Amino acid sequence: MIEKGVFKGVVSGGRLARGCELCYPGAKAVIFITGTCDDSCFYCPVSRDRLYHEVMFVNEEPVSGVEEVVVEVTRMGAMGASITGGDPLTAIDRVVDVIRSLKENLGYGFHIHLYTTGRQASVEVLRTLWASGLDEIRFHPVDLRFLRSVEWAVRHTGMSVGIEIPIAPGLEEWAKKVILEASRIGVSFVNLNEMEFVEPNSTSLRLKGYRESRRRPFTVEGALETALKVVGWARDHNLAPVHFCPAPFKDSIQTRNRMRRLATLDRSWYEKPTNDGTVIWAEVRNEDGTTVVAHPDLIREMRGWKPTTIVEAHPTRGRLRISEYEYDSTPS
Ligand code: SF4
Repeated sequence: MIEKGVFKGVVSGGRLARGCELCYPGAKAVIFITGTCDDSCFYCPVSRDRLYHEVMFVNEEPVSGVEEVVVEVTRMGAMGASITGGDPLTAIDRVVDVIRSLKENLGYGFHIHLYTTGRQASVEVLRTLWASGLDEIRFHPVDLRFLRSVEWAVRHTGMSVGIEIPIAPGLEEWAKKVILEASRIGVSFVNLNEMEFVEPNSTSLRLKGYRESRRRPFTVEGALETALKVVGWARDHNLAPVHFCPAPFKDSIQTRNRMRRLATLDRSWYEKPTNDGTVIWAEVRNEDGTTVVAHPDLIREMRGWKPTTIVEAHPTRGRLRISEYEYDSTPS
């Protein structure tokens, strides 16, 4: 029986990977460790100001070094982190430094998983990652030859090993080949990600004949149906556990939960977190031109201070403003 649900997507069997369990409540920080990558997938959803650039981010916050990564991960009270890119293995020394620092500062129970194509992997590199404290590795084998890296990870390390590939019409046979090989190797899970239809990949997707789904904005039409077929096929053949991750789940649930967590934990006394993962506060001006900040719930009490602006911002360190509107605080 295929289990369907808004939160877990569609699961063919077996437990979700630990990294996925922590993603849902937004408890994982996303560390974009480098934009460098040796591949050029037509479906790559990474924004073009990140891809192939030597940049680093934690969630939406640019960071410049390992210490700043730890500060930013701590700021959101994360229980784990996912390391992504580009291909993180093109910056292996930085990856190892980040994993070690996170484990030293946040404890060995802090769960870390990493995505890679496996192109740059060797037994030595994989063992180094494991020794540094990496808990889970997910391969995106853009070329079936890279499945040898998956096999090395299973045979030569104690990490949880999974495969994560995009799914859309036309990729069904490729996905089945990957799942058959994954089952032979003995991976813990295979995740199928609904292919996203977003600004960075929209032109190349159109050139391949894909269209954006009308029913499911920002996804490729037919990706959901293809995923369901593959999940059912894997279940019927008793293969490795295959999970389906719908794109809207990733964007609207995981990301919003992560931002809510950050907004709640990192708020100042005058900020109020919202359900959308933003913060709001009031800026109140007196007749002499003085401005003070105030908690939005307090402005009714501030007689004589007017007018008032309500500001809404993302919980980034610099509080990136989204909107402002005037609030009439004159006592009636
Ligand atoms: S391997 Fe990943 S980051 Fe690199 S081009 Fe492909 S999808 Fe983009």
